Amino acid sequence: MAGLKTCATTASYCGIICRGQSTISSVQYDAIVVGAGHNGLTAAAYLGRAGKKVLVLERRHLVGGAAVTEEVFPGFRFSVCSYVVSLLRPEIIRELELPRHGLEILPLDGTFTPMLDGNHLWRVNDHAKTRREIARHSRTDAEAYEEYGKAMVSMARFVKPTLGMTPPDPLTRDPRELLRLLALTRRFRALADSDRYNLLQLMTMSAADFLDQWFETDVLKATMGASGIIGTFQGVRSPGTAYVLLHHYMGEVDGAFRSWGFARGGTGAISEALAGAARAAGVEIRTEAAVARVRTKSGSANGVILANGDELDARMVLSSVDPRLTFLSFLDAGDLPEDFVDQIKRYKLRGSSGKVNLALEALPELTSMPGVGPHLRGAISISPSVKYMEHAYDQAKYGEFSRRPYIDMVIPTLTDPSVAPPGKHIASCFVQYAPYFLSSGTWDDRREAFGDAVVDTLAEHAPNIRNIILHRQVLTPLDLERDFGLTEGNIFQGELSLDQLFFLRPTPGWARYATPVRNLWMCGAATHPGGGIMGASGRNAARRVLGQQP
Ligand SMILES: Cc1cc2nc3c(=O)[nH]c(=O)nc-3n(C[C@H](O)[C@H](O)[C@H](O)COP(=O)(O)OP(=O)(O)OC[C@H]3O[C@@H](n4cnc5c(N)ncnc54)[C@H](O)[C@@H]3O)c2cc1C
Repeated sequence: MAGLKTCATTASYCGIICRGQSTISSVQYDAIVVGAGHNGLTAAAYLGRAGKKVLVLERRHLVGGAAVTEEVFPGFRFSVCSYVVSLLRPEIIRELELPRHGLEILPLDGTFTPMLDGNHLWRVNDHAKTRREIARHSRTDAEAYEEYGKAMVSMARFVKPTLGMTPPDPLTRDPRELLRLLALTRRFRALADSDRYNLLQLMTMSAADFLDQWFETDVLKATMGASGIIGTFQGVRSPGTAYVLLHHYMGEVDGAFRSWGFARGGTGAISEALAGAARAAGVEIRTEAAVARVRTKSGSANGVILANGDELDARMVLSSVDPRLTFLSFLDAGDLPEDFVDQIKRYKLRGSSGKVNLALEALPELTSMPGVGPHLRGAISISPSVKYMEHAYDQAKYGEFSRRPYIDMVIPTLTDPSVAPPGKHIASCFVQYAPYFLSSGTWDDRREAFGDAVVDTLAEHAPNIRNIILHRQVLTPLDLERDFGLTEGNIFQGELSLDQLFFLRPTPGWARYATPVRNLWMCGAATHPGGGIMGASGRNAARRVLGQQP
């Protein structure tokens, strides 16, 4: 401590020691969590409940990361990034008592897909109704839909338990891990033959090819295939996208399998509930506290250095941000094995999505179903054909944003009017494709052109849209990087492609939340089981740290 002096103004109550402008805290935390996204908060809450002294450090002025609600325009409160919830693990809701901390999930009913010829496809949670609707397009598909649903449910049942475990590595020599692998193999063998084949096909095929095996109706395949490409830099015809269909099929709301919902108050309410649970467990959360470095000594993490130079001590550090930031920015290359650094450099981020949030004077009128009705309460999916979806990707492949993009629009005010002034609405439009790397120009120059492409596309289906927009917020992948810390704008902190999932996420050999630096752990969406508001990465990492999970 030579050269350090006690800060006269603060030392009496916070024990801080100053060196020039920066300070070194004399407080020793058991764990510092970098980032207060929903996974960082989840990890912190579990550690706090286990009696650990935990500090969460968040770069922004509010908690939540990509799960935040912000008043972007006066009176209009947007789920700025993520907008619907389904994957949040029920055990987290239960164990952390999230409803007691204000979490309420309201059901989102169905998906309405307008078609360019004026027809539509409207799938709702009522299975019989959906079957009748699909039969309007194809009787064969209505039958197949039933079978498809059953097959997906049994595959989801097989995969689901893996969400809550450290993924076993097939190359392991650890007998405990081999046992878990064996248990998984046994469960696979216990599946019906058809499910086993389906699972292997899901792992290898494109979403479009997989769906081609079941259905003949183009619009049905396009709109279902859309969930295979969300957050990936791949098209519906790219091999491997079929698995992502299953990833999005595994959610549930209040025990209802594969249903989606809104958090009352926006997705920020999920993060607030998690922060509430963490604080109740004694966790300290600091916002506007950007971490610049993870401090190490003899190959072991022992604290962090903030961007303002302050140093904080901890027995361990958990990073909930992506591996590029964690390993290439917070550490020196010399802290890590060379081949590991090479693997991290190869980790695929390459964001492909944008978001357009609209404050509306009135509701959009769809040509394919005029008037205000329950069809506006669910998701409105602009995915009229497989060709349309693939064309949208073609442009992105060559560094252009899609002129007619895939859009998933929801109008949360129809379910939760509290997020806009009386009589007004908000529409949240998730958009693909918006490649981070543009072939010409910069995202700062092209942001409004991208916003125009989205509004023009919506106007093809809802001609009144231009007249009812009061304000618009356009988020490009560059904005997602700059404002939300999502490197290259990837919404899942790294692509959800098979080469980056299970025991390969974030990188082969290091998918167990531990890292090559002792006492430095990973706990965000870049770890198994990946992106989406799930909380599973945070819970799994905390359980690993606490020795509650092998
Ligand atoms: C546009 C968009 C739409 C999406 N839609 C959905 C959806 O509808 N449903 C769904 O389930 N999922 C959706 N997702 C994905 C989902 O939101 C994310 O996968 C999830 O929120 C990731 O959570 P996380 O806690 O792992 O990481 P993040 O939310 O990325 O949290 C990381 C935190 O670390 C902070 N941070 C970064 N750098 C530092 C630093 N140096 N020091 C301190 N803090 C730092 C960040 O500010 C952030 O708060 C969407 C994502 C985006 C971007």
